[in-house]
Amino acid sequence: MPGGLLIKNGRVIDPANNIDKKCDVLVIDGKIAEVGTLGPGVEKTVQKVIDAGGKLVTPGLIDIHVHFREPGDEEEETIASGSTAAVAAGFTSVVCMPNTNPAIENETDVEYVHRKGRQTRKTHVYVMGAITKNREGVELAEMGLMAEAGAVGFTDDGRGVQEPSVMLRALKYAGMFNMVVAQHCQDEGFAGDGVMNAGYYSTILGLPGIDALAEEAMLWRDIQLIKKTNVRYHAQHISTAESIKLIKSAKKESLPVTCEVTPHHLLLTEESCAEYDTNYKVNPPLRSAKDVQALKQAIADGFVDTLATDHAPHLQSEKELEFLAAPFGIASLECALSLYVKALVEPGVLDWPGLIRLMTVQPARIIGIEKGTLSRGKQADITIIDPNAEWTIDVNKFISKSRNCPYHGWEAKAKVEKTIVGGEVRFET
Ligand SMILES: [Zn+2]
Ligand SMILES: [Zn+2]
Repeated sequence: MPGGLLIKNGRVIDPANNIDKKCDVLVIDGKIAEVGTLGPGVEKTVQKVIDAGGKLVTPGLIDIHVHFREPGDEEEETIASGSTAAVAAGFTSVVCMPNTNPAIENETDVEYVHRKGRQTRKTHVYVMGAITKNREGVELAEMGLMAEAGAVGFTDDGRGVQEPSVMLRALKYAGMFNMVVAQHCQDEGFAGDGVMNAGYYSTILGLPGIDALAEEAMLWRDIQLIKKTNVRYHAQHISTAESIKLIKSAKKESLPVTCEVTPHHLLLTEESCAEYDTNYKVNPPLRSAKDVQALKQAIADGFVDTLATDHAPHLQSEKELEFLAAPFGIASLECALSLYVKALVEPGVLDWPGLIRLMTVQPARIIGIEKGTLSRGKQADITIIDPNAEWTIDVNKFISKSRNCPYHGWEAKAKVEKTIVGGEVRFET
């Protein structure tokens, strides 16, 4: 914004630069010009002043796992509705998954998503391309051309790549462009037609289960492939205690392996499925309390690289089907920050800087974008948060087109007040 923007008196948290102090942020021409205590003279030189007293001022939040359903399922979400919801939730960058209809699998598809994002002018919209054509796990998609068009990684999300030789080829190919390959770890042989976690609850509910091994077997296999290729690999929505052990040992061997955890795998357990409420049907499924505990411990110990929502909007008419037939997924973008606060900050798993780190510089590193910091000269993507605001989650107030969210009615803490993208205020309460 020509003329400049001064955000004064906030608690500035910029984990990449080890900053956590009360000070000011000056934005000039859409870029960070200075972070520090600026004299009163500066105030007169800028066009706009925001008093952030009592608020947190952080780099714009980043979510590297969202489903905006375009092209193909625009009645569930569009890039426009999704990115408008994203800025309202404090996210200045999101990464769309390629399991649209048709899948994002060539450079034209990648450019289409980017164009829709630019036209909406809300959040920065990035996209991962499919690993295989039509996400069928057989023939590699146009990975090189998609990388050139600006895709930030590859995944067949919604499915894992089943055939080891295909995955090995995909890793070698992605490695040529230094791109990250992300995996929805799920061995379909183990998962079968399961709809919830396999265990005591699936047995008493009479529902087919997805064994934890479905995730762990593929993650174990992929780690062996990374030992061979040393290509950057990202395990999406890790959900079990055993997966955490695998990630830990891979990291101890210094393999380029990262992982993410979703809010639902931190806040909900398989027990929630007992009412046959399909808002709890998600893939990978909600696990046991022991798994939730292991995920939280891994976050506290620094083995989880980022938090990601896996925002998966669905039509109410589809979610109203019986548990066996309803689609998997939870729409949680608009309450994500408060959910992480409830799961991690309130119980003392992380402090605020720890949480902001997992939502800014860390996800930016995974996808290799120059974001997630308030370093001088960087594009001014900034989120202003009221950490003490109390509110009730109401799906009817969602900007997202979908309402499939099990947190309706929950008491929440912390709210996004303003979201600034490239120096421009694109959301404010
Ligand atoms: Zn997935
Ligand atoms: Zn997903």
